[in-house]
Amino acid sequence: MPLVRYRKVAILGYRSVGKTSLAHQFVEGEFLEGYDPTVENTYSKTVTLGKDEFHLHLVDTAGQDEYSILPYSFIIGVHGYVLVYSVTSLHSFQIIKSLYQKLHEGHGKTRLPVVLVGNKADLSPDREVQLIQGKKLAQSWGATFMESSARENQLTQDVFIKVIQEIVRVENSYGQD
Ligand code: GDP
Repeated sequence: MPLVRYRKVAILGYRSVGKTSLAHQFVEGEFLEGYDPTVENTYSKTVTLGKDEFHLHLVDTAGQDEYSILPYSFIIGVHGYVLVYSVTSLHSFQIIKSLYQKLHEGHGKTRLPVVLVGNKADLSPDREVQLIQGKKLAQSWGATFMESSARENQLTQDVFIKVIQEIVRVENSYGQD
């Protein structure tokens, strides 16, 4: 019998970058048209990676801005983060930088399991953030980076697989189970 491990992941970022769409694609396998401002929603999915099974609990947050104070519930008991910006919004990219700082202060750890996601890659002609900018930011944190499109279901599964891999990597480096 494989060991089922419970891991909680929060999806953070500015509003309307596609947080709900990514979570919904991952769990339900479909794209939701139309803007629906999220209050806070949770999703669960069991993911098998090699011999291990993970019960992934996703917290889809309402969205943050530069003034947001992160509640303890986004820090305590959260194992990993998917930080999402839209490649069509420089502002959303800047918000991510301040969010990461706040997470870092909240956790007081040097390494956080983070996947940085530049979503809406299908809208490339309207780009305000270049691929290299996302890459460099993630590199500076030692985090994983990818661009995705929830609309075209491009790399949406990979985002959540990667965050589990990041969690495992960081936990192993701290010698935890
Ligand atoms: P959230 O507020 O960050 O949860 O964003 P939503 O998931 O509600 O998406 C906001 C808007 O962007 C909606 O109208 C979505 O249909 C649209 N959207 C989300 N992801 C994508 C994407 O990858 N490509 C495009 N073109 N639109 C997207």
